[in-house]
Amino acid sequence: MNQAFDVAIIGGGPAGSSAGTLLAKAGRRVVIFEKEKFPRFRVGESMLPASLGTLERMGVKEKIDNGGFLVKYGGEIVSACGKRVRFYFRNGLNAKRPTAYQVLRSKFDKILLDHAGASGCDVREQTPIESFELDDDGVTLYSGDGKHVVRARYVIDCSGRNSLIGNRYQLRRPYPNLHKFSLYAYYEDVRREEGPDGTLTRMVRAKDCWFWIIPLSGNTTSIGVVMDTEKFRNLKMSPEEALTRCIAEQPVVNEVMSHARRVTDVYATGDFSYRNSRLTGDRWLLAGDAAGFVDPVFSSGVYLALLSGEQAADSLNEVLDRPRNRAKAFRFYERRVGRVLDIYLDWASSWYTQEFVEVFLYPKELFELVPTVSAVLSGNELRDFGMRWRLCIFHLLVALQKRTSKIAPPLTLTPRAS
Ligand SMILES: Cc1cc2nc3c(=O)[nH]c(=O)nc-3n(C[C@H](O)[C@H](O)[C@H](O)COP(=O)(O)OP(=O)(O)OC[C@H]3O[C@@H](n4cnc5c(N)ncnc54)[C@H](O)[C@@H]3O)c2cc1C
Repeated sequence: MNQAFDVAIIGGGPAGSSAGTLLAKAGRRVVIFEKEKFPRFRVGESMLPASLGTLERMGVKEKIDNGGFLVKYGGEIVSACGKRVRFYFRNGLNAKRPTAYQVLRSKFDKILLDHAGASGCDVREQTPIESFELDDDGVTLYSGDGKHVVRARYVIDCSGRNSLIGNRYQLRRPYPNLHKFSLYAYYEDVRREEGPDGTLTRMVRAKDCWFWIIPLSGNTTSIGVVMDTEKFRNLKMSPEEALTRCIAEQPVVNEVMSHARRVTDVYATGDFSYRNSRLTGDRWLLAGDAAGFVDPVFSSGVYLALLSGEQAADSLNEVLDRPRNRAKAFRFYERRVGRVLDIYLDWASSWYTQEFVEVFLYPKELFELVPTVSAVLSGNELRDFGMRWRLCIFHLLVALQKRTSKIAPPLTLTPRAS
C-alpha cells in the first residue's frame, strides 16, 4: 500500500477528467487511473452547448476554444424520403449558448486529461485497474500489472462502458427496445455547405436504420449508421461491406459522398444502451457511460459524462467535508443524473417510432414548440416548468399522430424512386 487519496477515479475520459479536475481544484488529493495512453480513439464527436458550462467550471474552456475544433451551430434531421428540418441552438427556448463544438475525441479527451493533471490530479496512464476491495473506511484499488496498489476514501467509476463496479455488482440493465448496433468510420471530401450550415450534425432517418454525418475541422467527416443488432446479423456481412451497402442504399447520404474516401478502419459497436440500477454505494459513484448510456441519436453522451463527472465531484466535496450528509448527497446525485438519463431515454425511444419523426419533421409554430425542442437538443435539463409542459404537448401531438396520422403528413422513410 503506497499512498492515500481522498478520491480515486477509474478512467480518464470526459467523466473522469471533469470529476478529477473539479475535486483537485477544491484541494482534494485525487488519482486518475487510465488504461490507455492518450490520445486514443473514441467515437462521439458531436457536442451539446450545455457541456460548455462544465468546461468553464473546470477552467478548460479556453483550451478547447483554442483547440482548432469546428464550431457547431445546431443540427439537421432528414428523412430518407427527403424531408428535412434544421434547428439552431440560438433559437432554443431560454438559449444560453448559441454554439457547441464538433470535436476529434482523441484530441478533446487529451486536452481534458492533461488539464486534470495540470489542476493537481495524479494522472497514471497505461494503468488499468483490475480489481478493488471496499471496506467501511474506503477502497483499495489494484492495477493490472500489480505495481499500483492505492488506498482512497472514495472511488468514482468513470471506466466508460467497461463499467468496472457496475459489472462487479451486476447492476447493468440493458434497454430492450434499444438493442442497436453501429458501424462508423471517418471520411475525407464529404461535401458540405459553406458557413454555419456546414457545421450542423446531420441525422438521416431511414425505415430501419439511421445515419449520422458529423463534420469535423478540416476536411474530415464522421459517418455512422445505427440499426437493430438483428438486422446487422441478418446482413451476414463484414462491417466494411455492411457500412458501404447501407450508405449506397440511401441517396440522401450518398449524394454528399460522391467524392468521399474512407480514411480509417470501419469500427463496430453493439448493445451500447443500458443503465445501472444504482449509481452510488457507500464508497463509490458511477459517472459517464459507467453509469449509463442511452443511444447516440441526440449526441448526449459527452454532455452526460461531463455533467455526471461534475455532479459526482460536487457530491464528494460535500461528503468529504460533512460525512454525515453522505446519504442525502448521493440520493441527490442519483436523482439528478437519473433524470437526465430518463429524458434522453424517452427521446431516443421515441426517435425509433415513425410518428415521432413525422411530427418532428413538420414542426408546429404553436406554444413555442420549436424553441422547446431545440432547447432539449441543446442539452437543456428541463428543470423549467415552462419547458416541461410544452414538451408534454409535443408528446401529445406524437400520440395523436399515432392514432390519426393527421398532425403531420405520413412519411415513407424510404428513398423516392428517381
Ligand atoms: C456509436 C456511438 C456514437 C456516439 N456518438 C456520440 C456523439 O456524437 N456525441 C456524444 O456526445 N456522445 C456520443 N457517443 C457517446 C460517447 O462516446 C460516450 O458517452 C463518452 O465517451 C462517455 O465518456 P466517459 O468518460 O464516460 O467514457 P469514455 O470516453 O469511454 O472513457 C472511459 C475511459 O476509461 C478507461 N478505462 C476503461 N476501463 C478502465 C480500467 N479498468 N482502468 C483504467 N481505465 C479504464 C478507458 O480507456 C477510457 O479512456 C457515442 C457512442 C456510441 C457508442
